Amino acid sequence: MQASDVMSIDRESLATRPSCADARDDDALSVAAARDAIRAAVQPFAHDEIVPIRAALGRVLAVDCISPIAVPSHTNSAVDGYALAGVDLPGDGVREYPVVATVMAGGREAVVCGAGQCVRIMTGAPMPAGADTVVMQEHVEVVDDGGVRIDARHRVGQNVRQAGEDIAVGSRVFAAGRLLRAADIGVLASLGFGEIRVRRRPRVAFFSTGDELRSIGEPLAEGEIYDSNRYTLYAMLTESGADVVDLGVVGDDPEALARAFHAAAGVADVVVTSGGVSVGEADYTKAILARLGQMSFWTIAMKPGRPLTFGRLGDALFFGLPGNPVAVMLTFQQFVGPALRYLVSGVWPEPLIVRAASAVELKKRPGRFEFLRAILERDVDGRLTVRPAGAQGSGILTSMSRANCLVLLPEDCDGVRAGEPVDVQPFATEL
Ligand code: AMP
Ligand code: MG
Repeated sequence: MQASDVMSIDRESLATRPSCADARDDDALSVAAARDAIRAAVQPFAHDEIVPIRAALGRVLAVDCISPIAVPSHTNSAVDGYALAGVDLPGDGVREYPVVATVMAGGREAVVCGAGQCVRIMTGAPMPAGADTVVMQEHVEVVDDGGVRIDARHRVGQNVRQAGEDIAVGSRVFAAGRLLRAADIGVLASLGFGEIRVRRRPRVAFFSTGDELRSIGEPLAEGEIYDSNRYTLYAMLTESGADVVDLGVVGDDPEALARAFHAAAGVADVVVTSGGVSVGEADYTKAILARLGQMSFWTIAMKPGRPLTFGRLGDALFFGLPGNPVAVMLTFQQFVGPALRYLVSGVWPEPLIVRAASAVELKKRPGRFEFLRAILERDVDGRLTVRPAGAQGSGILTSMSRANCLVLLPEDCDGVRAGEPVDVQPFATEL
């Protein structure tokens, strides 16, 4: 590494060396400001591909989806019963009708229901000509000669699904940018689409940095740890729908790091690393990054996860996450995951936030945004309550495993009394 590399580091950012004990650092960027800066720097991409609809779950629609047909395509019965003309319903008392035909779902023969008659009809069967109303079979009395008796409690038009009542021909069913869910796959099938144009998955290359890291299967010497970040990153990237490129572990060696950054940027839309960017870590990581790309070295007013490097490495977006395992997960959840979604869809996702009463007092000083790993549950009265999921150190990854949510304590919060409501970001759809 050249001396000039070190000179090219943004002196301003290196001068900002807040201690982890500080609650407030004046130069720190708020979580919201970091999100805004990332969003402003990400240009949503437009790489598309066509996939079978079964492979489209979790993918982002690349085009507006316009319906080529009406759904349902024909006016049909919503129940098993008897179709008739609404004008023939009895105003009061009971009336008897001959049953002149039967229509089944998929039935194609032209059936006519004349005045004063009814037609036996099954759920989904096309309405006979002349009928606009269906009485469900449980509400009729079948008489000996095969006719039915119907009483006065029915409405004209009941139990009929109109053609196009779900989807009209030519209507926009989904807008480009939609993240496709299970119901959407079914809706696409109901329109007759076998394949659909979606955005290409973002290709994300990632590696861990640190001389102390050993790969699984290797024995641990004194002072060494297994590289867990690469596995949590692999899992979170996979959950985010990324196409992942695992570049392994790179030691704290300037040449090896420079080669790895370069290689990663060459194969991916986004590069994510962990470790090596924290205060106290060798400054050469910053020097190399500053040389290879346009980088911001941020101190974010959040806990855990305050150091974050964000920028551009060649054509790739770059996120240099902290090394501590919990900080990796939180910075991913707050910044990388949403940025990937934005890159692919042009939509910055808003997480679901719910309110719950804190079961205990939560101590906090104003200054940083704190993300407390916590357990959301129901109390005996069925109300949502939340309590910390044990020790909150940024190296204690089991706190993330135990937790089913984060308690969000914004910058200006100065503590929470037991019983007070707090904002909670659930991880899971199950308690
Ligand atoms: P660093 O940001 O590189 O100073 O790392 C901060 C802390 O995170 C140190 O205790 C590292 O040992 C730990 N750490 C860094 N990378 C990893 C990793 N890939 N897996 C587990 N722990 C890590
Ligand atoms: Mg390190």
